[in-house]
Formats: sequence, structure tokens, C-alpha cells
Amino acid sequence: MQRKKQLTNIKIPVDPGPAGWEAILPSRKPFAELTQDIEADYLVIGAGFAGLSAARRLVQLQPDAQIVVLEGKKVAEGPAGRNTGFMIDLPHDLASDDYAGSADNDRRQTAMNRAAIDFARQTAEEYNMPSEAFNPCGKTNAAATAKGLNHNADYARHLDLLDEPYQLLDAKDMREKTGINYYQGGLWTPGTAMLQPALYIRELASGLQKKESLELFESSPVIRLKQKGHKWLASTPKGSVLAGKVILAVNGLVERFGYFQKRLMHVFTYASMTRALSPFECKALGGEANWAFTPADPMGSTVRRISGIGGDRLIVRNRFTYDPSMEVSGSCLSSVAETHIEAFHARFPILNRVEMEYCWGGRLCLSLNNVFALGEVEEGVYSACCQNGLGTAKGTIAGIIAAEQATATEVESSLIKDYQAEPAPQKLWPIPMMWLGANGYMRLKEWRAGKEF
Ligand SMILES: Cc1cc2nc3c(=O)[nH]c(=O)nc-3n(C[C@H](O)[C@H](O)[C@H](O)COP(=O)(O)OP(=O)(O)OC[C@H]3O[C@@H](n4cnc5c(N)ncnc54)[C@H](O)[C@@H]3O)c2cc1C
Repeated sequence: MQRKKQLTNIKIPVDPGPAGWEAILPSRKPFAELTQDIEADYLVIGAGFAGLSAARRLVQLQPDAQIVVLEGKKVAEGPAGRNTGFMIDLPHDLASDDYAGSADNDRRQTAMNRAAIDFARQTAEEYNMPSEAFNPCGKTNAAATAKGLNHNADYARHLDLLDEPYQLLDAKDMREKTGINYYQGGLWTPGTAMLQPALYIRELASGLQKKESLELFESSPVIRLKQKGHKWLASTPKGSVLAGKVILAVNGLVERFGYFQKRLMHVFTYASMTRALSPFECKALGGEANWAFTPADPMGSTVRRISGIGGDRLIVRNRFTYDPSMEVSGSCLSSVAETHIEAFHARFPILNRVEMEYCWGGRLCLSLNNVFALGEVEEGVYSACCQNGLGTAKGTIAGIIAAEQATATEVESSLIKDYQAEPAPQKLWPIPMMWLGANGYMRLKEWRAGKEF
């Protein structure tokens, strides 16, 4: 996947809206900005799930190597701190009707996701993270309609085939969990870890920064990457890093480095978070203080209730838009905000005075054939990108694999033993066709999701 030409002045797009997860945390000490010319054995570009996992795996594999991580924005400000925090172990194919794929592929994917969750669990323990940063509590596929219940029944049959445990919940169970009457049933599975994503990323970055062999800089975007002899020179506005090997952990932005161009789909999804509920509102609502629902129909609304550092809050995520420019307009975000409020009020009529405090969007990177953009793309440059919308687990997997490839780790010692080399992401159709096709398809599926939306 060699790039066609050296690119200069690489830009990071604007992320729409302030992400609630980071905003509800106490302020933190900033990481330094790169202001000098330095050298390293390994340079990791991007401090999301992929970049920080790659950095941690590098530290494990080569404790004496000098590692530098460069993040263009503030740590946890980008997509890694903007997601809904479901680190899912089981098959979760967003393009399917009920998340399931073929049995063999799903077994392999589940084993890899679980290796990633184990890696995150060990990280959370080693770095002494608060329990809400990483909580292995499972999640529920919630159904609000008969069609949703059918999706859950299909999925349950698929789980039987995979020999995976689950528990079916009826309308009463769902009411007891949530305090509301909206859902007719649910399918609970135990293996998902729920993250406070900004907290997890922040704590992971701080834990890594304490390692003597590692330096992490934020607000230090790489604007140019070019070969210098056998090394790579990455320039930021105020400094540079000359490194033997580079891991690109920038998800869809790998295209702006000249790789995988016209092969990656840039899709936004969006979330809103309420203000903190008062003790009176919590009591009126009832139900449990923490729960996490993915929709039984993949195009429906994800809903979470959290109780922790930022108080008691509810989060709604829905809508997908395909935006090849990697940016969305303010009017798009406003219209999404209205959709979130509608979905929220439909579910929680008792909280009709509760406003959304934050609404935001974030970029996903997908490939038409649902594969990573992973591996050595040029001598000494490794890509850990294209997480197909499930970057908490898949980004962790990609980061670990890229670090193992860069250090030439033997396959037997790999943490991700089930990974098999994949074909490259398939070429996209011309942009106007992609735009019409993808947006038309997603609007239709959202409309069909009905009350699950
Ligand atoms: C609303 C929403 C809900 C979601 N919910 C879930 C969910 O529940 N579960 C799940 O698994 N996934 C979810 N996702 C997707 C998930 O957030 C992404 O898949 C994940 O963040 C990808 O991780 P990553 O590390 O590969 O990339 P990113 O998180 O995008 O990290 C890449 C980092 O690289 C940095 N960067 C880019 N270019 C440069 C440069 N030139 N120089 C320096 N740094 C650079 C960026 O600033 C960024 O911080 C959701 C996403 C959104 C927006």
C-alpha cells in the first residue's frame, strides 16, 4: 500500500461539539507540547485506543527502547474520548440486521476482542484506574418492538451456535433495570466491558507517561512525515522526531499521510449527554444507577445510564452520516441534537424537564469489506487503522498487532493469536455514488428501525 507521493501540511479535521465524557471530568495537568527536535526508536502517531495500546505493547516488548507518542489534539479530545464506551467481545457487525456474521469468523473475532479486553483489564489494574474507567459488567441488546425482539431471538440462536452464554430479559426485567416502560425485552451478554472512554484514555496516557522510556506529547500534530536515510522524520509545528520505526494510529486520517487513499469510508455518529440528574429525579426515575443498552436493531439508539465522577446522567447515541470531507456542518449537529432529544423524551417521559448538556459527533473509519488497514505500508512504517466503528476493542487489537509487527515479535508470543492477515480495504466507488449510496442506505435503515431508533 505504498503511498504515491510525500504529503505536506497534513491537517486534523475539527471534531463537532464538545464531548461530554471529557467535559464532566475534573481538569487535568496538560501533557507537554513537542518544542524540540528529538530522536526515538519508535514513534507512535495518535493517542487513541490504537496508539496508546501500541505504545504499551512496545514498552512490554522492548522496555529499553525509546518511544515517543505524538497526539495532534488534547489527549481524549478526539474520537477515542467521544464514543459510547462499549468494548464488545461478541460479533457486532453494524451492517447486519442482528450483528451476527458467519460462525467461524465470529469465533475468531470474539477471541481477538477478548484478548483486547484482557489487555485493557490488565492496563486498568496496572495503572490503578478508577472502576468506572473500565467496568467488565456486560451489556444488553434492548428491544422496543416485536421486530427488535425477533432480532434478539435470531441473535440468541446465533449465540447458541457459538456456545456463548446470554440471558433473555422480559419487559418487567427491563423496567426494573431502567425505571421506564419503553422496552419489551432484552438480551444480556456478560463479556462486554463498559468504559468511561475519556477517563480510560486519559489514565492510560498518564500511566504510560510515567515509564522512563516513553515520552508523550499532546497538541503536537504531525504535519509532515518523510524518509531520512533509513529513518523517518515526523515534523510538528514546533519540533520533530527522527525515528527508526513509525506506527500510524490515526484511524481514517491515515489517508492524509498518503496511504489507503480512496479505500476508507469516513462516517460520523453522534451522542448527547444529559445534565446531571438531581437526587429527586433519580428517585422518580427508579431503576439501576448504571446500565448499558445497544439497540436490538443496529441502526437504533444506544442508551446508557451512568453514575460516577460526573454525577448521574443518561446518554443517547444514534444517527450515522457519511462525510468524505471528514467534517460536518453546525446545522447537521443541530438536527442530530433534535433527534437525540426526541429519542430521549420518547423513552423517559418522566424526565421531560431534563435537558441535554452536551451533543457531539465523531469520526468512524470503515472499509467496504470490513477489514483493518493494518500492517507495514512502507519500510519502517506500520498502519494500525480502520477499526470499522468498533475501535475500543478493534483499535486495541490493531495497536497491539502493529507493535508486534514493528518489533518482529514471533507469532507464538503474540497477544492476538487469532489474527489472520486480511486483504487490503476494497476500493470505494466514485465519491458522488458513495455519498448517495451510503447516506441513502443509512437513512432507510434508520427509518426502518422505527421505535428502536
Ligand atoms: C459517538 C460515538 C460513539 C461510538 N461508540 C463506540 C462504542 O461504543 N464502542 C466502540 O468500540 N467504538 C465506538 N465508537 C468508535 C470509536 O470511538 C473509534 O472506532 C475509535 O476511537 C478508534 O480508535 P483509534 O485509536 O483507531 O482512532 P482515534 O480514536 O480516532 O484516535 C486517533 C488519534 O490520532 C490523532 N491524530 C490524527 N492525525 C494526527 C496527526 N497528524 N498527528 C498527531 N495525531 C494525529 C487524533 O487526534 C486522534 O486522537 C464510537 C464513536 C463515536 C463518535
